[in-house]
Amino acid sequence: MPEINSRLLSILQAESGARRVLQAPQPDFGLTDIEPFPFLAIIGQLEMKLALLLAIVNPLVGGVLLIGSRGTAKTTAVRSLVDLLPLRHRSLCPNGCTEEMLDQNGLDSICDSCAERVGYGDQLSTEDRVRIVELPLNAKLDDVVGGINERLALEQQRLRLERGLLAQADGNILFIDEVNLLSTSIADAILDAASQGYYTVRRGPLNLQYRAQFVLIGSMNPEEGHLRPQIMDRFGLRAVVRGLEQPQLRYQAYEQAITYRRNPDQFAATYADSTMLFAEEIEKAITRLPQVLVSEEAIKLGLSLIEGLEIDSGRAEITLFEAAKAYAAIDDRLEVLDSDIEAVTHMALRMRKSSGLTEFLRSRKSEDDFLKDLSNHLQRENGEDPSTETGHENSV
Ligand SMILES: [Zn+2]
Repeated sequence: MPEINSRLLSILQAESGARRVLQAPQPDFGLTDIEPFPFLAIIGQLEMKLALLLAIVNPLVGGVLLIGSRGTAKTTAVRSLVDLLPLRHRSLCPNGCTEEMLDQNGLDSICDSCAERVGYGDQLSTEDRVRIVELPLNAKLDDVVGGINERLALEQQRLRLERGLLAQADGNILFIDEVNLLSTSIADAILDAASQGYYTVRRGPLNLQYRAQFVLIGSMNPEEGHLRPQIMDRFGLRAVVRGLEQPQLRYQAYEQAITYRRNPDQFAATYADSTMLFAEEIEKAITRLPQVLVSEEAIKLGLSLIEGLEIDSGRAEITLFEAAKAYAAIDDRLEVLDSDIEAVTHMALRMRKSSGLTEFLRSRKSEDDFLKDLSNHLQRENGEDPSTETGHENSV
């Protein structure tokens, strides 16, 4: 990893295993809200932490897929993001009307009920923290997209659609643990919503559209089944999460886990200050991001990497350059350098090259070459000059 300038990156690296484990007393019984394991208390796993950080700072990187076997702290890491998530301006209207829309384009740009609320002097939007919406493994399609409230339908013969998880994920993070075990219908619903930013639910006479713009975070254990290529393509960054190699680090991770289990609140409290500082630095990086520009050299390097790897999906460029911008913002700079591209290349470009597709295109090319040769041969036999026939050149 290149040399670092920022406080954010130095906290990220310094906290990895450097902290001495405190001997916390046994917990009180009957705790209701258990503090999540602190992000900064996770030992090692720098690539996973950096990928998650990039996705929080810049949602345009297109989400993160964490790939690794069981017990490598993937789920712990995602849940621990709770304390680091930034504040976001959020519309109170299902149509997404905001004060900015009103300021920029006047009353016609917002819906009628919001125009009415403006008349009463009411707020159109509010500030709250980005949340993590977790998709349960046993979720049904109706839980995901929303469906008819069955209690109301049975007891009062009234039809009302309930918001599904996708609508709740709007403006938030959608976390899918074991994404490779998802049923096809649910995976397709999520991918459609993710690509369009909204989705429509039709149930009988009811027809409602919901906004669903979210950062997708998935985890998978490759030993438990592969991920369909169209789902894989949907994730911007791919972080490979391996078990800790050094025995010393493994022992530290064990100590952290056991201390946390004895008293989660006290354990989290020992990280409270550094977590707060870290979260403040994340907010600053988010504020810096819109001013970050990509240098000519970085563009050249990024494009040649994509060309060299023969990647087809246009998402590669988006993820690579947006992740590099986020990395520069995190490192307290306003210009993307070669080193930023290098820092995110693995996560942005690995597993993008579809071997099936490359094979297909190669076999297509040899088939086309064969057809072209055959056609030239036949034309020569018929006494024609194949060089004057250009139509075959482009007919694929
Ligand atoms: Zn509105």
